[in-house]
Amino acid sequence: MKGIYLMLGGNLGDVAVTFREAMALLSEKKIMVLRVSESYRTPAWPDASQPEYLNQAIEVSWEGTPEDLLANIQEVETALGRVRSVRNANRTLDLDIVLWGNAVIHSPALVVPHPRMHERLFVLNPMCDLAPELIHPTLGKTMAQLREHLRSG
Ligand code: ADP
Ligand code: MG
Repeated sequence: MKGIYLMLGGNLGDVAVTFREAMALLSEKKIMVLRVSESYRTPAWPDASQPEYLNQAIEVSWEGTPEDLLANIQEVETALGRVRSVRNANRTLDLDIVLWGNAVIHSPALVVPHPRMHERLFVLNPMCDLAPELIHPTLGKTMAQLREHLRSG
């Protein structure tokens, strides 16, 4: 299965190094990295006094279920030092599933498309590197249109 997009984020440690290590670990788990966006620096939100974030989108291929992909990426987060605490806490690595082709998933553990992706330039900028014409499965707009909407709103 292709057309699966993941978002990498982090703001603790040498995040660029962590991202390279994450991609190596993903490949070991048969999550094949097909394409990689530019990486983007963004002030921390909601507390801009915290270290800034680095974000990058990747397209992967994966032959298992969405739930198994989530379990695998959570193992990669843990292996690279992610400690789960409060919401929006600083982190070495966050790995989210942004899109899974045209699939719409609403299970207790997994919501795809990622429910806040269209509100975040740090998701839409790297997604526009990889797939500007890709249409959001429920909003019916391309990544480029969603970004334009966010910039002008
Ligand atoms: P956040 O990414 O919002 O900062 P976490 O990384 O701590 O928060 O994830 C919290 C929970 O979000 C995970 O345990 C996972 O079950 C759930 N989740 C729901 N949808 C997704 C998704 N599309 N990608 C990754 N995690 C998701
Ligand atoms: Mg996450």
